Amino acid sequence: MSDVIAATGGELVQGKGNEMFENISIDSRTLGKGDLFVAIQGQQHDGHDFIDRVLAQGAGGVMIDQAHASRINTPRATGRGARVVVKDTVVALGDLARHRRRSVNPRVAAITGTNGKTSTKEMAAMVCGRRYRVLATTGNFNNEIGLPLTLLRLEKGHQVAILEMGMNAPGEIGRLAKICEPDMGVVLNVGAGHLEGVENIDGVARAKAELLEALTDKDTAIVNADDMRVMKMAQKVRGRVVTYGMRQKADITAASVRRQDGRVCFDLCLSATDEQVAVALPASGTFMVSNALAAAAIGAGLGLSAPEIKAGLENFSPVPGRMTITQTRAGFTLVDDTYNANPESMKAALAGLRELKGAGRGILIMGDMFELGDHAPVMHGKTGVMAAESGVDRLYVTGEFAEAVAGGAAAAGMTPEKIMIESKETIIEAVCPVLEPGDWVLVKGSRGMRMETVVQALSAYG
Ligand code: ATP
Ligand code: MG
Repeated sequence: MSDVIAATGGELVQGKGNEMFENISIDSRTLGKGDLFVAIQGQQHDGHDFIDRVLAQGAGGVMIDQAHASRINTPRATGRGARVVVKDTVVALGDLARHRRRSVNPRVAAITGTNGKTSTKEMAAMVCGRRYRVLATTGNFNNEIGLPLTLLRLEKGHQVAILEMGMNAPGEIGRLAKICEPDMGVVLNVGAGHLEGVENIDGVARAKAELLEALTDKDTAIVNADDMRVMKMAQKVRGRVVTYGMRQKADITAASVRRQDGRVCFDLCLSATDEQVAVALPASGTFMVSNALAAAAIGAGLGLSAPEIKAGLENFSPVPGRMTITQTRAGFTLVDDTYNANPESMKAALAGLRELKGAGRGILIMGDMFELGDHAPVMHGKTGVMAAESGVDRLYVTGEFAEAVAGGAAAAGMTPEKIMIESKETIIEAVCPVLEPGDWVLVKGSRGMRMETVVQALSAYG
């Protein structure tokens, strides 16, 4: 408890101040005996409503937000467990995480960018795992709650932490960087994603730059040489800058990108050590090579050799719903990219579809892209144009902005009989009978569209 108070500046309103906690938890369902429960006001639930319950469950103590302190200080709840009141429990959770980060003191790599954070993080964890004990963000725990919870899983002996950083508003990445104090800051790309909180793409760039601004002269920035906006923000970095790229000259590059046995293969070149090694990445989209280079840069920054990096990358297992390819019994191939969507990832996925289908037919089943604010109609229209221009033979769209996508595709020359706007269920019924062996079907939309139900139905078909 003394550490908790020192880290957060909280006020002990009940207890002795020498309490010991097993863990720190924000969820009454996973809270263990002797844990410190941090009450957080979420969108759906307010942790403060669970104070009585967690104390009865055997929580060692509770941390309460000042704004709720009077409300929960009921006689019923008094008498059990230590209590500390802080100004803001979300901030305090970050403070606790920073404290843990400093006491375990691993090398920390933080990854941000519009697309590819989770994939890069997974690959970097595989790479660094060849030599070090690594803690990595699980799933998509990349915000002001998820990142601290990840750091709080640090234990003595962890040598490296690989963290994903997401953002919905300016200032968020900066706050996350203050919590995790990265030794390496990785910016993958700047695209039109999460636009609601930041207005436009320059706003996205400014927000991502907060990670690089947080680096000291002892730290390393790892930046994508193929992305002009990223290179621009790298000019102001105080520490070392390591570049990677597929198209531009860079410190870490990929040569002879090719496709072999369902993998993307390339020659990884590390200029610092003048090493070159062939990598067969278990992934489909070429954009994954770019992510792999970022992961390689993290590994190289930690002193790993090219063969170690290769071994890590080749052990990466693609996350379901991110360009996952399955050959169906009916003979057509499904490209499942239903995990999420925004204009840039749509573009990457369409480029992937074009490459994969070769001479076969390409079919796109698309749901809305969320979080685009006022830009939504235009962005959906542009994606429609892109679909038509990337040689999509049939287009099935569902969602609020389906008309905009269809309009874009029609404007780019797709004939109306090849376009359908319908509910997911109707699309499934309509598309199954027209699918032929050799067809490639890309399914994609934002998480909330749950486009995976289409994938499930199509996989079961035939
Ligand atoms: P989120 O913001 O949802 O957490 P993320 O940045 O973690 O996303 P991933 O989950 O790794 O990204 O990938 C999501 C999708 O983005 C992929 O399925 C793919 O379509 C696309 N994508 C991944 N990497 C890139 C890249 N380097 N360039 C363009 N698109 C990419
Ligand atoms: Mg992610």
